[in-house]
Amino acid sequence: MNIILLGPPGAGKGTQAHNLVDARDMIQLSTGDMLREAKDSGTEMGKKVADVMARGDLVTDEIVIGLIREKLQGDKKGGFIFDGFPRTLAQADALAELLHEQGETLDAVIEMQVDDTALVQRITARSTCAGCGEVYNDITKPIPADGKCTKCGGTEFKRRADDNEESLKQRLMEYYKKTSPLIGYYYAKGQLESVNGLGEIDDVKAAIAAVLDK
Ligand code: AMP
Repeated sequence: MNIILLGPPGAGKGTQAHNLVDARDMIQLSTGDMLREAKDSGTEMGKKVADVMARGDLVTDEIVIGLIREKLQGDKKGGFIFDGFPRTLAQADALAELLHEQGETLDAVIEMQVDDTALVQRITARSTCAGCGEVYNDITKPIPADGKCTKCGGTEFKRRADDNEESLKQRLMEYYKKTSPLIGYYYAKGQLESVNGLGEIDDVKAAIAAVLDK
């Protein structure tokens, strides 16, 4: 089963993708994570995208499509979760083509609906475990008092450089201009399912499970 998690920055796509990896042995393909890795390891491509990402703009379709193409050729396990990809109509068309080439199908597109004020609050309070990527939130899911990640026991936590109000405004603008048309695109293809992304993490998880088990 291959699915897309679609929604604005801060909708909870990463958190729910982690849940699906644990529960269904799926593979999370987060283009944001791949780009951050390239940036941190200082590859040529990483250097090229660093400023674009810090501003909150989208990197080119060519780069992200190339990253996804590479991953689709690897182990497929319980299927792929596309997290933060596609973000443009050109990426959506490219994904359809890549899946077709691999003899794979796209089984669901899950739109995670949230309101913009909740996004700002979520993003500016967000941190992740440096070891396993588990997502924490100062208000709704604080790092445990003993300073250890609940999932891997790691003690180092990071905040993303682009999780500030300035970059977030631009990321939201990019979302509404370039990514939100995908909601109509997948609706027209009969593949869109929407869940309320504002509830408790476990409630959202259950809503996604209900869609996938239909
Ligand atoms: P994310 O972790 O998904 O919020 O992505 C962080 C940043 O990486 C975005 O603000 C973009 O600059 C870049 N990025 C991630 N995925 C894509 C994509 N599919 N297309 C273009 N840029 C992307």
